[in-house]
Amino acid sequence: MSRGLPVPNDNLGELEGYHSPQVRVSVRLNTNESPYPPPREFVDALAAAVEAEPFNRYPDRGYKALRSALAAVHGVRPEQVFCANGSNEVLQTLFLTYGGAGRAAAVFEPTYAMHSQIGRVTGTTMAIGQRADDFTLGIDEVRRVLDESSPSITFLCSPNNPTGRIESKDLVDEVLATAPGLVVVDEAYGQFASWSALSMVTDDVPLVVTRTYSKTWSMAGMRLGYLVGPASLVAELDARVLPYHLNALTQAAGLLALQFTDDMESRVSALVAERERLAAALEKLPVQTWPSEANFVLFRPLERDGAEVWQELVDRSVLVRNCDTWPRLQGCLRVTIGTPEEDDAFLGALEEVLS
Ligand SMILES: *Cc1c(COP(=O)(O)O)cnc(C)c1O
Repeated sequence: MSRGLPVPNDNLGELEGYHSPQVRVSVRLNTNESPYPPPREFVDALAAAVEAEPFNRYPDRGYKALRSALAAVHGVRPEQVFCANGSNEVLQTLFLTYGGAGRAAAVFEPTYAMHSQIGRVTGTTMAIGQRADDFTLGIDEVRRVLDESSPSITFLCSPNNPTGRIESKDLVDEVLATAPGLVVVDEAYGQFASWSALSMVTDDVPLVVTRTYSKTWSMAGMRLGYLVGPASLVAELDARVLPYHLNALTQAAGLLALQFTDDMESRVSALVAERERLAAALEKLPVQTWPSEANFVLFRPLERDGAEVWQELVDRSVLVRNCDTWPRLQGCLRVTIGTPEEDDAFLGALEEVLS
């Protein structure tokens, strides 16, 4: 006799999981990965580290070498750095620590869908604010949402995925002055942008900045992200995360990557230049765009249905992100900056589809 599974908790409600279809195409510009692999010397150094690793033993639970190196990069103390398997796991650990049943967290749509998704999984009530029509965020709307919901976590995303806009220092200052709890600035695309909130982090301010190796470091496959925040907050996260959550290989890779910072920075500069070229080319087509400081550009075909354009691009072996069903983004598509060749393939296909 088969026995049924218990009814799962209803934290997710009717919400669907957050998935980007992994379609087989030759030009993949849908998940904001780097089009460039990390340098050969990095892979060689990592292979040597694998050879030397005592895999029968648990890894360093406190990942001290990686933590100290990241602290040095950002001019903070190691106790102010927390790492996890992708910045999504960093966000999840924040929710496990400061969210949960009976608590609220605030986001401002349109923004990164995982903030709300992880919040709901952890039983946190999501308070949803709205950006203006041009996708800037006004402090009056922030105040309205914070007054209404008194969230224990307030999320900003700068540059904001999927709109590409950054938040100004003035806005982050005002949000910090207004928020009743923790303020999280998700800087997954921080190195592409003209400004970072990292310098605002101290032990005395309820602010954390999250970063990831997935985009600028060309290491999405490795799954490593981190935050910089007050030491007392990091201690709370450390107390809740699973033991040995950061495996030995991830620790080694994150540390070794920092030896190739110059390579990372030149990849980022090349992608920023390429973003400007692609944005200028989009200006000449019948699409609406928004200014981006990240490695992607959001656009909306003016004369065609966005979902149809998405399909016709796939038919030409170009995959971009279809944002059509996301809050406030009807008809919008998001293209990740690729190599010049990939971007030309995208622009050529789009021109064809729109003509
Ligand atoms: C890609 C992305 C992340 C990161 O994810 P990882 O789990 O580090 O791969 C986090 N925040 C935003 C806004 C992103 O776009």
